[in-house]
Amino acid sequence: VAILIQPIDLLISNYNEYKQTEASVERIFELMAQQPSFSEKPNAKELPRIAGKIEYRHVNFAYNPGQPVLKDLNLHAAPGNVIALVGASGAGKSTLINLLLRFYDPQAGEILIDDIDIRDVTLTSLRRQIGIVPQDITLFSGTIAENIGYGQEELDLSAIEAAAKIANAHSFISQFSQGYHSWVGERGVNLSGGQRQRLAIARAIVNDPRILILDEATSALDSESEALVQEALERVMQNRTVFIIAHRLSSVRRADCILVLEQGQVVEAGTHTFLLSQEGRYARFYAQQFYSTDEAESRE
Ligand code: ADP
Ligand code: MG
Repeated sequence: VAILIQPIDLLISNYNEYKQTEASVERIFELMAQQPSFSEKPNAKELPRIAGKIEYRHVNFAYNPGQPVLKDLNLHAAPGNVIALVGASGAGKSTLINLLLRFYDPQAGEILIDDIDIRDVTLTSLRRQIGIVPQDITLFSGTIAENIGYGQEELDLSAIEAAAKIANAHSFISQFSQGYHSWVGERGVNLSGGQRQRLAIARAIVNDPRILILDEATSALDSESEALVQEALERVMQNRTVFIIAHRLSSVRRADCILVLEQGQVVEAGTHTFLLSQEGRYARFYAQQFYSTDEAESRE
């Protein structure tokens, strides 16, 4: 009986993993297919190694005709700037990022990186220079090294280890008996929430991108993990242009510019101190959304 159960169990777990991978791949194609005008120009050129200047000029975007999502959106980030995106759910934060990654193109206006229209460059050369730290990393069945080097044409083990060190992940990875060759996914090593986040950071920076997108996790980690994650994030934000989809007061306060989005429009922009002095939407938002979190953080 034991002999029978094991392979069936294995089969089921492999099947579940297979279904998960399939789902995410499907999702990507779904995204691509939704935008028929989306394409790489036949004469698209390689985006050279960038400094990280980003501009949105009069960007208008709708997923469906007649339902504008971003309306005359303007944004300017100098290389190394930290831009926090703040706004209620549905305000357009993810959409703004989707356009930078060219999952969609705007119907009007333009997005420039280092003064180059992103529609003129190849998708690979664009996306390679943008690192993304999602709220929760999607791990696939494979080794830790493969999971960090995900998207690399050839696994560069020294770059993977360097990225893991910067991300405060090297020491926990080294403690696994197989180190970087440890298996993750079903039947693989168990990872805590904080370890997953540090793997996400390592994956995001393994190609040393000039642009980093942080979708801050809303769920709390234990305070030791939290400190390691925050320390890693602060390190990787250095010398990069960073967009933060912000849920935490600390990162909003430090941003060079906070963009307050409301129904696809920038309704306020500026530093934390400036926006508080305006006593407008940000000040109200801050009082409602962030003040309670801040208190909770300082009580810990
Ligand atoms: P946020 O990230 O600030 O919560 P989103 O950018 O996800 O906001 O969404 C902005 C608006 O676009 C919302 O009204 C949302 O329902 C709509 N939206 C988001 N994604 C899609 C999509 N793939 N197709 C159609 N509408 C979408
Ligand atoms: Mg979103």
